[in-house]
Amino acid sequence: MTKIAIVVPCYNEEEVLSETASRLLDLLKELITAAKISDSSFLCFVDDGSADRTWSQIQDLSKETQHIKGIKLSNNCGHQNALLAGLFSVDADAVISIDADLQDDINVIREMLDNYLQGDQIVYAVRKQRDSDSFFKRTTAQLFYGLMNFLGTKTIYNHADYRLMSRRAIQALKEFREINMFLRGIIPLIGFKHSIVYYDRSKRFAGESKYPLNKMLSFAWNGVTSFSVMPLRLISGLGFLSILASIGIGLWALYSKLFGEVVPGWASIIISIYFIGGVQLLCFGILGEYIGKLYQEVKDRPRYFIELEV
Ligand code: UDP
Ligand code: MG
Repeated sequence: MTKIAIVVPCYNEEEVLSETASRLLDLLKELITAAKISDSSFLCFVDDGSADRTWSQIQDLSKETQHIKGIKLSNNCGHQNALLAGLFSVDADAVISIDADLQDDINVIREMLDNYLQGDQIVYAVRKQRDSDSFFKRTTAQLFYGLMNFLGTKTIYNHADYRLMSRRAIQALKEFREINMFLRGIIPLIGFKHSIVYYDRSKRFAGESKYPLNKMLSFAWNGVTSFSVMPLRLISGLGFLSILASIGIGLWALYSKLFGEVVPGWASIIISIYFIGGVQLLCFGILGEYIGKLYQEVKDRPRYFIELEV
């Protein structure tokens, strides 16, 4: 029978933890009673270096039932790393990751499980609307997904880190050895048979967001720079445009020199400033191209995964 693990990263979540644990535990027990999952299934709380009572709560919970386990990271390593620590250290046939604040509807776990049992290796949970998020969060998130799309990264629109992964999918994920794991971009690269389930996202039921503006920005920037060399490529474009502009400006300077009244030396200085500036930018861009290639080589991403053989 399927053994599942539900991985929950927690950073200073003392206000929500006990409620979250009891709701998830109820669901787990219900699934066990219905003989959908094995009795060895469990919840795994990953304490991401919290400064509050999160870890002692996890310890207490783990003493109450064998269905609750915990991992404590030595430091605050960030949501993505806490998630990875959980995914990589649990032993289960299928692992579901979910945030500690239960903004994501846990009832779709049943559906995710059904899809897994029908052979899906990854099941993405996607929120239908974002009404419960603030206007700011909503627009910035939309901008971000739009930008990622524009830069050519396949992310699943409105999918955060609420998903089910099979043992096999996690094995594949382990082959990505890059340090800056931007999971929402990497997991679609894994491929395999996958599906999407939809749910309504609600508000945090207690505590406040652990993603303040600076963490959000650094998360977004990491997403962009781990997946795209487009910013480097933009430099070449800019250089090319500057050279074109320098030709126009050159003609204008020449015209002013011949037919207008300008200080001696002005035309030659103006022309060289624009032209050399453009050439330099273009050269940076070319260097950037090579740095981009190097960067892709260094990441050493797996080239393919075999899904089936006959
Ligand atoms: N989190 C974490 N480490 C961090 C920040 C957040 O493990 O440094 C966890 C947090 O406990 C929660 C999840 O990541 O389980 C998502 O955080 P939150 O709900 O605050 O983000 P939001 O829903 O506001 O985007
Ligand atoms: Mg949240």
